[in-house]
Amino acid sequence: MIPTDVKTGSYPNLRLRRLRMKGVLRDMVRETELSTDDFIYPLFVVPGTNVRKEVKSMPGVYQMSIDQTVRECADVKKLCIPAVILFGIPEHKDELGSEAYDEAGIIQMAVRSIKKEVPELIVITDVCLCEYTSHGHCGIVKDGEILNDESVELLAKEALTHAQAGADMVAPSDMFDGRVKAIRTMLDENGYQNIPIMSYAAKYASGFYGPFREAAESSPKFGDRRSHQMDPANSDEALREVALDIEEGADIVMVKPALPYLDVIRRVKDRFQMPTAAYNVSGEYSMIKAAGRNGWIDEQRVMIEVLTAIRRAGADLILTYFAKDAARLLSGK
Ligand SMILES: [Zn+2]
Repeated sequence: MIPTDVKTGSYPNLRLRRLRMKGVLRDMVRETELSTDDFIYPLFVVPGTNVRKEVKSMPGVYQMSIDQTVRECADVKKLCIPAVILFGIPEHKDELGSEAYDEAGIIQMAVRSIKKEVPELIVITDVCLCEYTSHGHCGIVKDGEILNDESVELLAKEALTHAQAGADMVAPSDMFDGRVKAIRTMLDENGYQNIPIMSYAAKYASGFYGPFREAAESSPKFGDRRSHQMDPANSDEALREVALDIEEGADIVMVKPALPYLDVIRRVKDRFQMPTAAYNVSGEYSMIKAAGRNGWIDEQRVMIEVLTAIRRAGADLILTYFAKDAARLLSGK
């Protein structure tokens, strides 16, 4: 970067438009490159066989049974997308979200199948309880309060069963205090010291998760998630959250959502220089899809613009439902 005190010239000697005149020149001086290598593709796994059900509010996104998920993973790999993140919808939900940490649970079985058929694909698992609890909360609820420490114990168990099934990375998304440390300790004690943790470090209580809850069938039956997810108005607090997760052993830190929080991504990247991920969430995806379908915006152009902006803000990795569309566009396939 040119220090601001260096005189770079002034009009008419200096004309910034010179380097914008030709497409090739623009390509040569482009500051941010978007690459398929940066993408992580989220998948929703449901019970059954041969299930492939489109999520109404997210055109192009499907709930898939394990057999279909494996086929999808092969496609993802063919498009050179390096990684998927899995969300599971269990057969049965209960108060304690038991299937989340059952070695025969939906995610544990899905991981085994994917790693068998598409071993080179990096399989990341979302670690939380909200898809598995009957009340839809991310942890154990007692007298209307979501308990922290008791829930963290279950999350550590869940992460361990994912690692045992063959997951390449675990991603706790709950925002409870101390969960990264508990998961790191549990993994290390069981011989999984080389499994990285991508923590949802600064996750906001956001209205942009609406369509995801249809996809993951994880809406809370009462109350909301404001007692553990962050207030959208805060960004100093995001730095404290991220610092804490790094101290507890996070290898990659995530900001979620992405688009309304580009400033937070930038602050996190500048402050910590950690591998930083951003989750381009369901609502961000659905808005672009809907406007594109109505002919109000050029969907492909806006998609690339948004993904590039998230990278420009400082994200190294982007979790995005656009991964396949963008990969096709970037590779010209
Ligand atoms: Zn959750």
